[in-house]
Amino acid sequence: MARVLVTRHLPAGGLDPLRDAGHELIQRADDVALTHDELRSAVAGTDAIVCLLTDVIDADVVAAGAKTVKVVANVAVGFNNIDVAACRDAGIVVCNTPGVLDETTADLAFALILAACRRLSESERDLRAGRWSGWEIGQYLGVDVHGATLALVGYGRIGQAVAKRAAGFGMRVLHYARRPTGEVGYVADLDAMLAEADVVSLHVPLTADTHHLIDAHRLTLLRPTAVVVNTARGPVVDELALARALEEGRLFAAGLDVYEREPEIEPRLLAAPRTVLLPHIGSASVATRTRMARLAASAAVDVLAGRTPVNIVSADA
Ligand code: NAP
Repeated sequence: MARVLVTRHLPAGGLDPLRDAGHELIQRADDVALTHDELRSAVAGTDAIVCLLTDVIDADVVAAGAKTVKVVANVAVGFNNIDVAACRDAGIVVCNTPGVLDETTADLAFALILAACRRLSESERDLRAGRWSGWEIGQYLGVDVHGATLALVGYGRIGQAVAKRAAGFGMRVLHYARRPTGEVGYVADLDAMLAEADVVSLHVPLTADTHHLIDAHRLTLLRPTAVVVNTARGPVVDELALARALEEGRLFAAGLDVYEREPEIEPRLLAAPRTVLLPHIGSASVATRTRMARLAASAAVDVLAGRTPVNIVSADA
């Protein structure tokens, strides 16, 4: 029986693979995030960690668990919260949850595309606040989604799932990634793709290379009628530059699910016009969050049993 630290409460049934394998689960009674110091003390002497994207598993935490921990299983597909190189050096396997959240996250990305293009948040806010005085011909005019050119930055599991939805809306779909995908719509030059876009949707992981991939310069390449949607990770976009572009009318709208300093929201983004802001709910459906927890738990069970799980993250990824 191994000792498994589970940093937060997970959806019902999510930890069954660990329970069924007879492992001891170490969890706080209250569902409150551990501070960095608490995390460091909590990992000492455990064999596995099941954690969330809000838990920072940095070199200090890895060092604290290095003697006993064999696996860190992140209940997320993104793993920018984990120092994967430090884990590798300590002989700790890192796992994530690819594949089980693609469709749910793509649904949310498409919801943001629709909401930002058609100004759903601000118009509903006005209606609820009693500011709507009746139909007017020039009111809440948005930009069309059907027939628009969608530029996908990153064309992995989630990017491709968004492309399927866009086809149903009659959108022209372009995509960019570092390696040619061999698929119709591939554009090798990100800047050239941005210049053609009506809607830009981001689907790259957060790495040193993608930090501020959409920066002040790239925002100037977009049309003033363009819409930017980010369901990837906050720091992929320079938030201040985005807020400035919206304030100055150099961009039509933005739809964001993720932020540079979550849960802090840049005040200028909160005040920026035509900005739809969601609280990082990309994968938030009951079924998907349960699948994510089960996949992470199963990966921990596999590693503890000496098996190689399919969802291992590599330090070079
Ligand atoms: P994936 O299948 O690994 O796809 C990533 C794509 O990004 C690939 O096309 C990859 O192609 C491209 N890419 C990687 N590095 C790049 C770079 N430096 N420049 C340009 N393109 C690059 O990942 P996924 O499962 O679709 O997930 C994408 C991200 O979405 C996750 O990492 C996570 O952060 C985020 N996410 C957010 C939520 C949410 O709740 N909002 C939910 C799920 C996932 P190349 O390697 O060929 O460049």
